[in-house]
Amino acid sequence: MANCIFCKIASGEIESKVAYSDSTIVAFHDVTPQAPCHILLIPRKHVAFLSDLTAEDEQIAGHIVRIGAQLAAQEGIAESGFRLVANCGPNAGQSVDHVHFHLLGGRRMTWPPG
Ligand code: AMP
Repeated sequence: MANCIFCKIASGEIESKVAYSDSTIVAFHDVTPQAPCHILLIPRKHVAFLSDLTAEDEQIAGHIVRIGAQLAAQEGIAESGFRLVANCGPNAGQSVDHVHFHLLGGRRMTWPPG
C-alpha cells in the first residue's frame, strides 16, 4: 500500500530494528517505546483496521499472537508478564492505519488503560 509507513517497514524501504520476520509477518521495535520492551507485530499484507480482518486473515492473526508470546519469552518478559494489544480506530488511539499488535512488558502496567 503506497504511503503506508508500516508497509514500507515490512518491505525494508524504511529502516527498523527487526525482532522477527517471516513470509507473513514482521515484528520490530517501536520507535517511541512505552515500556522497556515495546515491539510491534504486523502482517505483511496491508489491512488498515482490525475490523477489516476477514476469515482468510485468521491464520495470520493467530500467528501474530503466537509469535508475540514467543518474542515475550525471548525478551525475558514472559514470567514477569506482558501485554499484547491492538488499538482499532480513533477512540482506541490508533495512529497508523495498518493492523499492528503492541507487545509491551518489563514494567508494571495499569488496567484499565487510560
Ligand atoms: P498506534 O498508536 O496503536 O497506532 O501505534 C502506532 C505505533 O507505531 C506507535 O507506538 C508509534 O510509536 C509507532 N511507530 C510509528 N512510526 C514508527 C516507525 N517508523 N518505527 C517504529 N515504530 C513506529
